[in-house]
Amino acid sequence: MKKRFKKIYIEITNCCNRSCSFCPPTRRPPGFMSVTHFRHILREIRPWTDYIYLHVKGEPLLHPQLNQILAAAAGEKIYVNLTTNGTLLARQQETLLRYPIRQINISLHSFESGGTDAFNDYIHSAVSFARTFSPKHGITAFRLWNFPPEAKPALSCIGHSSGSNADSPENRRSGAGSASQLNNRCSSAGSAGQLNDHCNGAGSASQLNNRCSSAGSAGQLNDYCNGAGSADSNFSGSNERILNMLSSAFGFQGRLAPELYTQNDARLAEKIFLSFDREFQWPSLDAPDLGAQGSCFGLKSHLAILWDGTVVPCCLDGDGILALGNIFTQSFEEILHSPKSCRIAEGFQKHTAVEALCRRCGYRTRFRVPETLR
Ligand code: SF4
Ligand code: SF4
Repeated sequence: MKKRFKKIYIEITNCCNRSCSFCPPTRRPPGFMSVTHFRHILREIRPWTDYIYLHVKGEPLLHPQLNQILAAAAGEKIYVNLTTNGTLLARQQETLLRYPIRQINISLHSFESGGTDAFNDYIHSAVSFARTFSPKHGITAFRLWNFPPEAKPALSCIGHSSGSNADSPENRRSGAGSASQLNNRCSSAGSAGQLNDHCNGAGSASQLNNRCSSAGSAGQLNDYCNGAGSADSNFSGSNERILNMLSSAFGFQGRLAPELYTQNDARLAEKIFLSFDREFQWPSLDAPDLGAQGSCFGLKSHLAILWDGTVVPCCLDGDGILALGNIFTQSFEEILHSPKSCRIAEGFQKHTAVEALCRRCGYRTRFRVPETLR
């Protein structure tokens, strides 16, 4: 039987070892979802979906119990999709190959500093992983989602799945990271004694390697964030360079350019794709009000659960502003039937954004408003 949600996003951590310029640091406390909580979520949502996506904010490959997370998902026979910035693929390769994963999205636009050698190593490592993972284990989808708005029309709207199912906005990351932005990322202690000191350093760009360097459970965390290279250099990997490297690595015949792939992704090899999209803006209460007219698929085809159990209508609410409830203290069904959830869902059915954040969400404007409502 078809389940209500095409997918549910689960943020297993909101800590990250990168600092992409367009990705505002979350205002929530940093933390990691426990395996016990993850299992609880799976049991709650299993009747509602067959697909989970391990990402909202943060870098999922940082999770120190990633193997147990993936094992739990395999136990529930749920399809796992994972989006990563790609810097820790080599380190987590054994785990990623051991458990079933339907698709891994690698956001190449999130590596913007680190010097030429580090950049080359990063791309080579991502390519090497893709070749090992696909086609045998699952799909690899490289993402280059940092083109200016005029570069191509919206390709990857929710529900408009392309060949590689690059259909979600959850990781629209792009742009060059800046040293000054490192300070705010994962800078405070986690709650409830959970991995309190995770990601607690990084006062400057040059300290990137020290992020997440202390405490953590079972002494497992120390090395996790060391793979991203130094951020001292001003080097910015150009898209052209990435495209040349991918083209050459996969012997791609033809030209890789966003304007040529407006309806589908470029197929680089069997089950290996490249998706282009324009730079994404996270919705913000500080953004201009775009009006109430419009809709999106939040609460219809998907929703998201943050690491602390907060349920939100979409994967773009990285600050939990639209919190509908908490799955650690309420049943999933109760949250779905709450007055707030119903109000938002019914509003979208009538092409009306009822929440202040939704009125300021540029992503919503990608969906066509029926002529009768214009
Ligand atoms: S966009 Fe992704 S890789 Fe970049 S800082 Fe945000 S969570 Fe990290
Ligand atoms: S309109 Fe609201 S629910 Fe939809 S993506 Fe934007 S913030 Fe999320």
